Amino acid sequence: MTTSEQLFEKAKTLIPGGVNSPVRAFRAVGGHPLFIKSAKGPFLFDEDGNRYIELINSWGPMILGHAFEPVEEAVRDAIQHSFSFGAPTRKEVEMAELIVEMVPSVEKVRMVNSGTEATMAAIRVARGFTGRDKLIKFEGCYHGHGDSFLIAAGSGAITMGTPDSPGVTKATALDTLTAPFNDLFAVERLIDANANQIAAVILEPVVGNMGCVLPEPGFLQGLRDLCDRHDILLIFDEVMTGFRLAKGGAQEHFGIRPDLTTMGKIIGGGMPVGAYGGRREIMDMVSPAGPVYQAGTLSGNPIAMSAGLAMLRHLNEHPEVYTRLTEIGDKLVAGFRSSLASLGLNFTINHLGSMYTLFMTERPVSNFVDAKSSDLALFGRYFQAMLKRGVYLAPSQFESLFLSVALTDELVDEIIWANEESLKEVI
Ligand SMILES: *Cc1c(COP(=O)(O)O)cnc(C)c1O
Repeated sequence: MTTSEQLFEKAKTLIPGGVNSPVRAFRAVGGHPLFIKSAKGPFLFDEDGNRYIELINSWGPMILGHAFEPVEEAVRDAIQHSFSFGAPTRKEVEMAELIVEMVPSVEKVRMVNSGTEATMAAIRVARGFTGRDKLIKFEGCYHGHGDSFLIAAGSGAITMGTPDSPGVTKATALDTLTAPFNDLFAVERLIDANANQIAAVILEPVVGNMGCVLPEPGFLQGLRDLCDRHDILLIFDEVMTGFRLAKGGAQEHFGIRPDLTTMGKIIGGGMPVGAYGGRREIMDMVSPAGPVYQAGTLSGNPIAMSAGLAMLRHLNEHPEVYTRLTEIGDKLVAGFRSSLASLGLNFTINHLGSMYTLFMTERPVSNFVDAKSSDLALFGRYFQAMLKRGVYLAPSQFESLFLSVALTDELVDEIIWANEESLKEVI
């Protein structure tokens, strides 16, 4: 048994499923998870002494590569002044100022400790602001593990949600309506069938959580128009896309302004941080400025703020990061496409900037039903074949990969080679 296997066996006796977040258990790809010891730049090192090229990057935060010096330095500097005060600090003001500068639609922002907290608070604020209870989400979009978001895809466009997880009450599920991604007509029907009851439409503007799925031209603008027409708040969940697709996220890339934005992942530089923000009059609903309660003992934690600030400052001051990420993504995907062509395979690759997914299906993927047509057993074998060649992918077909600027052209060539050899092996 490898050290990872031994650790996993022990972990399973102590932690549910042996992990602190389900996808890490490798259930979707078979085998056992690798226990990670350290990481630097583009590489991950496990407890068994192996080195892997990173394509998850902590699900996003390591966009500048692991243990990026300025972030490391900021944390080292911050810990000399104690770790938490439960009182306001200068860094929280600097953080808020920087987020408002970088994210186009955000005028005021509240810091929290995870993406889940951010989305839970954002819908509470939307409900408080509009005085309405229901929300519309899209099948296959993930917004953290808050009860309101764990709702299965309804089959008909006006079907009420049913809980995806035991423990979510029927009453909660009834307030969450679901539509297929990229289906404006379905959203319109939901709005008509629930006149004056919808507080918010929430989505990942580019989806990462059913694999990478892009909004079709006109979809985001169409949602913006529908929301305006019916006094519904539009919430962009930019926990993945924020500070990644552009320094101002998907809303900058597509030029669409949501009313509220949720952020996470990159914003903490690897520390547990989330945030939600938006138009001033909406955010002023939040306690103690307004009546909508939301709080956090460790929110705005000085160590976490230091890491996040160092990360965001670097991204804000180095626009070439985004040019380079796009170059890396384009090169990688071009290489994959040419391998697919030479192997006579017609699989779908969805890609934008530093996010991509290779779907094991020939069908174009623009919603969750399309994504689910992928050959999951084949993906499992492909995942293991890539791992064997030293490339660490997200252990599920239904995830986006996240590139970092630490990837050199040589490493991108190595990934392209591994991809071609892996596909040859598993087809
Ligand atoms: C990861 C993620 C979340 C949840 O964030 P956590 O920090 O894991 O709670 C919410 N929304 C999206 C789009 C995410 O990718």
